[in-house]
Amino acid sequence: MNLSEHTIDSIRAGLLGKQFTATELAVQALAYAQAENPKTNAYLTFSPDRALSTALEVDKKIAAGEDPGALAGVPIAIKDVILTRGVRTTCASRLLERYIPPYDATAVQRIEQAGGVILGKTNCDEFAMGSSNENSAFGPVRNPVALDRVPGGSSGGSAAVVAQGTAVLSLGSDTGGSIRQPASFCGVTGVTPTYGRVSRYGLTAFASSLDHIGPFSRSVRDSATLLRVIAGRDEMDATSAFAPVPDYAAALDGNVRGMRIGLPREYFENLASETGDLILRAVDVLKKLGCETQEIRLPHTPYAIACYYVIATAEASSNLARYDGVRYTSRADARDTLSDMYRVTRGEGFGAECKRRIMLGTYVLSAGYYDAYYLKAQKVRSLIARDYAEAFEQVDAIVGPVSPFPAFKLGEKVDDPVSMYLSDIYTITGDLAGVPCMSVPCGTTADGLPVGLQIFTRHFNETAMFRVADAYQKASN
Ligand code: GLN
Repeated sequence: MNLSEHTIDSIRAGLLGKQFTATELAVQALAYAQAENPKTNAYLTFSPDRALSTALEVDKKIAAGEDPGALAGVPIAIKDVILTRGVRTTCASRLLERYIPPYDATAVQRIEQAGGVILGKTNCDEFAMGSSNENSAFGPVRNPVALDRVPGGSSGGSAAVVAQGTAVLSLGSDTGGSIRQPASFCGVTGVTPTYGRVSRYGLTAFASSLDHIGPFSRSVRDSATLLRVIAGRDEMDATSAFAPVPDYAAALDGNVRGMRIGLPREYFENLASETGDLILRAVDVLKKLGCETQEIRLPHTPYAIACYYVIATAEASSNLARYDGVRYTSRADARDTLSDMYRVTRGEGFGAECKRRIMLGTYVLSAGYYDAYYLKAQKVRSLIARDYAEAFEQVDAIVGPVSPFPAFKLGEKVDDPVSMYLSDIYTITGDLAGVPCMSVPCGTTADGLPVGLQIFTRHFNETAMFRVADAYQKASN
């Protein structure tokens, strides 16, 4: 069954109206997803046992007249950097090809408690490092909208399954844009919540001070519902916030009259014309809805990429040190000494991008260069955060593009890592500042390639962000 017509509400109505059971839906969704997967390579692993046992629980609750949960029966896919107990979690790396986690990420646990049916694990860039999903050890994902193009990255598989109709919702992770950029490339909604809003317990660490878990969906409303389920304080993650979690979906009344929207000059200067036109048309829709727009400045944006690729690689070099052939999986064949074993295990196990980042990160943290690179980057990060704080004194939300261009061709940028890094220019600042941000589809180019509108709001004000996105989505249909 193609799931692209389904939403959380339509499934709930179908279940309560006895049109189908959660078990029937799960069986059909799994069969469809398995049959369609060869087209895109978006799923790496299916989890039929887990899917069917959750679906059965939902059916039992409905039969008993109990509340089946906010995500009852909804087929969901999980990015393969998020741990699932008993279900292989590879991080798209050879090193973890056979790794079976002994526990669930908090977000996964909360989804199942709410009746969400986990169909499987989605492909991504190795350890979430990349912008095109071409760094997966298990082959790239193809964009369901245009099969010769990348789905974006690193959460390419999670964006692709929603676009393809092989899941209704999915979870991705975003460190520098990995939810919003693939959402934009595949024409779906993708949300990066405030840093600390969603527990990172069970999210494989890439750059801990930047990592976020967040939802993908077709409609803004569905992302709002999913975020509410996974958000909130978790004792297992000391950086998860105590801030109360509002009912985001209940706030979506389509009214954004009088909202002040900032357009950062730095985001509109060098935009490719087609993307720029679509973004400006979206801004016009917001104006017609009664928003007041004004130009703002985010003056430190030009330093964001350099700053991010110092901090993210520094943290990654430390986080990836744990894959040593002793813990987790995959050990190179017997060697003479322990350090040989480490070296060969890591040499064989990590792909080129991970190695590049470990080297870069180790370098910027080394005694001689720490002040020149890492410390300097931390200072720049504070300035970028201050840009947002100052902008939010004048406006309620900031909008702009997600990516300077739409989905590019497979292979087009793989040999030029710097040009790949530059594609993250508009997404990285949001992660560095820790503010909530999202991508909502805002039309397609003449070639039919989707473009996403990015929306940022103040820390912990996801409600305002969802309200803008939802009002835009309804008005633009
Ligand atoms: N493209 C960025 C990178 O390669 C972002 C990745 C991410 O958000 N996980 O680091």
